[in-house]
Amino acid sequence: MYSDMLFELSRVDLGALPAPEIIIVGGGAVGLTMAAELARKQRRVLLLEAGTKRVSRESQALMEGASWEGFPLVGLHSGRFRVLGGGTNFWGGQLVPMDQAVFLDRPWREETAWPIAPEEIQAYYRRAFELIGMRQQLEDPEVWKRLGITPPASSSNIDLIFTRWAPEPNFAQLFAEDIEKSPNLTVLLDAQVTAFEMENDRVVGARTKSLSGREATFRAPFVVLANGTVEIARLLMLPLASGQPAPWSGNPWLGKGFLDHVDCDAGSAYPIDKERFHEIFDNAYIDGVKYSPKLKLACDAQMKHELGSIAGHFLFNSSLSEHLAFAKSFVKSLMRGRFDVDLKSLPREALFILRFSLPLVLRYIFYRRMYNPADLGIQLRLTSEQRALMSSAITLSEERDCLGVPQVKVVWKVEEAEIATLSRFALMLAEYIEGAGLARIELDPRLAAGDPAFLQGIDDANHQMGGARMAGDAAGGVVDANLRVFGAQNLFVAGAAVYPSSGFPNPTFTAIALGLRVCDSIVDALQNDRTPESKAESRVEPLARRHPKIAGVETTPLGFGCAYLTAGWEQRKSSRLIHAALEGGIRHFDVAPSYGMGSAEDALGAALVGRRSEVTIASKAGLARPQVKSYVMAARALAAPIRRALPMITRGVGSKVVQGARRQFGLPVIEASLTESLRRLRTDYLDLFFLHQAEPEDVTDEVLRFLDDLRSKGLVRWIGVASDRSACETIAVAHPGFFDAFQYSWSILNHDCPPFGGARLTLTHRALLNALQPVGEWLSQRPDACQRLSEAAQMDLSAERNLADVLLSCALLANEDGIVLASSRKTQRVRRLGEVMENQSLKNSARAFLAAFPQEAGTYFGSEARPA
Ligand SMILES: Cc1cc2nc3c(=O)[nH]c(=O)nc-3n(C[C@H](O)[C@H](O)[C@H](O)COP(=O)(O)OP(=O)(O)OC[C@H]3O[C@@H](n4cnc5c(N)ncnc54)[C@H](O)[C@@H]3O)c2cc1C
Repeated sequence: MYSDMLFELSRVDLGALPAPEIIIVGGGAVGLTMAAELARKQRRVLLLEAGTKRVSRESQALMEGASWEGFPLVGLHSGRFRVLGGGTNFWGGQLVPMDQAVFLDRPWREETAWPIAPEEIQAYYRRAFELIGMRQQLEDPEVWKRLGITPPASSSNIDLIFTRWAPEPNFAQLFAEDIEKSPNLTVLLDAQVTAFEMENDRVVGARTKSLSGREATFRAPFVVLANGTVEIARLLMLPLASGQPAPWSGNPWLGKGFLDHVDCDAGSAYPIDKERFHEIFDNAYIDGVKYSPKLKLACDAQMKHELGSIAGHFLFNSSLSEHLAFAKSFVKSLMRGRFDVDLKSLPREALFILRFSLPLVLRYIFYRRMYNPADLGIQLRLTSEQRALMSSAITLSEERDCLGVPQVKVVWKVEEAEIATLSRFALMLAEYIEGAGLARIELDPRLAAGDPAFLQGIDDANHQMGGARMAGDAAGGVVDANLRVFGAQNLFVAGAAVYPSSGFPNPTFTAIALGLRVCDSIVDALQNDRTPESKAESRVEPLARRHPKIAGVETTPLGFGCAYLTAGWEQRKSSRLIHAALEGGIRHFDVAPSYGMGSAEDALGAALVGRRSEVTIASKAGLARPQVKSYVMAARALAAPIRRALPMITRGVGSKVVQGARRQFGLPVIEASLTESLRRLRTDYLDLFFLHQAEPEDVTDEVLRFLDDLRSKGLVRWIGVASDRSACETIAVAHPGFFDAFQYSWSILNHDCPPFGGARLTLTHRALLNALQPVGEWLSQRPDACQRLSEAAQMDLSAERNLADVLLSCALLANEDGIVLASSRKTQRVRRLGEVMENQSLKNSARAFLAAFPQEAGTYFGSEARPA
């Protein structure tokens, strides 16, 4: 479906990806430009993009989960896009270099200067123009010259400038060839980075999750965050993959100093000399580049009058503007050789196109200007910067999105004092335009009077900035002047998030230029071998290990055991557990007719409605389903609080029921059991079908033929035996190659018993049930051994939660290519299971624990340490 180097995380073979030198998080305006630049400089880049090639409702919903407080920040929902190309899919592509004022200390606004000199960015603006295909763009005087127009002279307060627009605004299109063809650039879609792994002060892994729940960790010597202002702050605020806070999490500016432009209607313009007005203020097109005239407050005037950075432009309103917009896109589409317009509207629009095309084409050809009818008037729009405030902030909320990541809440604050800049500038601009004899300006009276109430009507500009500001030291910002995160050697931020103040300009051009500056410093470090660690470090690594497959369907190394699930009165609780497992990334579910008083299959089936295709399910036959009356179930649900408080009352009851049950492997029994399981699970097939607690004598030729028949009918995909280990081993030897899977218990107490092989898949269970309590008790009696093992594992193993994590990780290590089943009645613990599955440092702890445990424990667990 995709070309050579463009993949989706949920489908890609992770082992086949090239090892990157740089990971870029986010494929929007900044990330794509940086990726292209680095790849063209022969550096190996992995770009991780949360969205896919098209905007989808499901993906976009993750952006829309954010909320705001304070001034309405509409762009938080309607101005951010989770798709390859990010905002460039919908922006105009207006490119404006930063206002000089931000490089100066402005004590009257309490704004600190940017920690870099303006000259440090100039070369990168030029490079950005080149990459965007605007090598031929002209300086302002040259534009006027080519238009054959003498502009009005700038006044001491107002500068008349041009902004430039990218000829191809959609960066996924602009860099399509790099994305699809460059051997140095791998783009992974549907790959949201959700956490980092760190060692000392280095990021050593970017944990990534797809919408379908597939996860992987990617590694490279350098990591760059280019995932847009709000998402950059969000990612930096999240805990590390280990659950620990990130080293930068205490930075006083993290998430703070959020900015947007204050955008507003200032009033109307009534041209005195209409022709001259259009001559000055209509957009111009020269050599394929569009230029827009803007009026900005001169830098000296800002100093003199102690104001902020601000600019204005005119909007031409027409009853025909909708049709005009269609005509423009139609012409653009024709020129690009592809249709971005809705062709169904073409016949309806044809008349208008004919009507417009003559003046449009004539004005374009003869004057290189846009035709701007203005029968509904000319509006003056202002765009002003706001002062950075600690209280204007991006924060994490209690809510989580469907990937399990905390949602974002943005508090957008704008001070009343900002009215001074808006009002004074509006008056200066009116004076300038009227003085030049161009138009009469009628300002909004509240604005002219400097009334702060005017601010109630402001808009945001879809220009989110700040939250990870740059500064000379960590007390003043989140990143240094080279955009490196304070507290991390190899983590950089590229984007408007780093702006300590914004000036008036649209933010993206400078963000791109700063990103290109980061590229240069990374390339320099790689060329001079100043990588944070040796280059051999760079690798792409599926989390912890490769994912196991059942009948060709990829699933997860950790499966959820459903023995505790019950339906009916406790369905909601059961669903919560299943959803927590899914959120944690678990995709395999193991159930049986006998589980949950006979209702676990109903509970699982109900919880998985609509998600069947995302998971693999194993169920069994052989132990009869208990027939429990509904009033018993109700009484059980009502007694749940008592059971929770006194777990010893019911501990083991379920397993005793199962152990006491009679084994039944008659063919009609197996058939009826399967039919009933499919009905209750609301599915047409089982991924795995086990003979439950089968002994060698149960596995007759007749049973084998029958099972084979079920497999060939597609009712079950794989067949296995779930029994004790010795029975499994004997059956495997007796029927070589018949069974696809074996399932038996394994814990650290069987440490010298690796999986016996003989099947495509080994599943183990009871890693905690068999070991947590005895090992925990032993460690509490032997503090010296506990200390030595804790040191080896680098974790405090006297804490039950840590011990549980390590024991489970040991089971994962012992069954590297298979599936380990685990369970819990607590949703938080279930979520944690998912984290254990992927945690690289836990894996290291488990390895050390596995090596040291036998010596420490000696023969203490002798009797239990036999195969279970
Ligand atoms: C209608 C409109 C018009 C605009 N016009 C202009 C203009 O003319 N000029 C201008 O300068 N600006 C304009 N903007 C603003 C501009 O679009 C943004 O400033 C710009 O897109 C920001 O670029 P970026 O690369 O930092 O982020 P984005 O373009 O937002 O890209 C970020 C990317 O990161 C991905 N992502 C997010 N989180 C993760 C994660 N955890 N893991 C992986 N990927 C992730 C997102 O899916 C997205 O693709 C406009 C915006 C809008 C909405």
